[in-house]
Amino acid sequence: MKHQDLWQEILSDVRSILTDLAKSNAKTVSLSPETVALLSHTTDPTVNALKELEQVVSGCTKCPLYATRTQTVFGTGNPHARLMFVGEAPGADEDRQGEPFVGAAGQLLTQIIQKGMKLKRSDVYICNVLKCRPPNNRDPRTDEIEQCRDYLFQQIEWIRPEVICALGAHAARTLLRVQDSTSRLRGKWHFYGTIPVRVTYHPSYLLRCKDDKVKEREEKRKVWEDIQAIMRFLNGEEIPSRDPINDGTYLWQ
Ligand code: SF4
Repeated sequence: MKHQDLWQEILSDVRSILTDLAKSNAKTVSLSPETVALLSHTTDPTVNALKELEQVVSGCTKCPLYATRTQTVFGTGNPHARLMFVGEAPGADEDRQGEPFVGAAGQLLTQIIQKGMKLKRSDVYICNVLKCRPPNNRDPRTDEIEQCRDYLFQQIEWIRPEVICALGAHAARTLLRVQDSTSRLRGKWHFYGTIPVRVTYHPSYLLRCKDDKVKEREEKRKVWEDIQAIMRFLNGEEIPSRDPINDGTYLWQ
């Protein structure tokens, strides 16, 4: 039986189960393990591959961060997103909820996506380099990034975004294999393989600038410049080109 026909058959079965349930007073329904397995699989290979990878990550003990996490934080959003945001690591809120960028920095990123880019959070894909929270929100260590980065690279491999926005130095350095600061890397295009990458400040950095209004306004302006470049690219108004001097330096693959 073709995937499409199988899926139609499952949907039709579920519809009739729900119709029967609506007619009765039953509050629960029993499904066989086979049906549950079928229902939890789509015919979309990207979705299935990401689900399988998420399962692997959820049991990962490759670095010491597994011992202090509440849960892993894999990633969220559209598995076929044109734009992927990559941050640094989960914080306390993310560790509790299992979703990236849900704390104060996440709310700021959501505003950038919704109010600035006029997109929905569910239009883009959001994840971090590290999938487990470093204790007390300390910076990720090099050995932790080395253990974890293949998961990120596999996510990119499956999602194949048209453009990546690296939020902060740890994401930029992991993707571009450089050691420069965010301020040196932002404002121009880089490449992860053939995928254009724009580097900008992490939203948590913007939050830390709040006490200095002049600095806050200036750094927000720079982030907005970077976001606008991504929007121009997505609208077909800007073609990222490699810096002829550094061409190849930033290639990971
Ligand atoms: S941070 Fe990454 S490598 Fe370390 S335990 Fe978590 S998933 Fe595994």
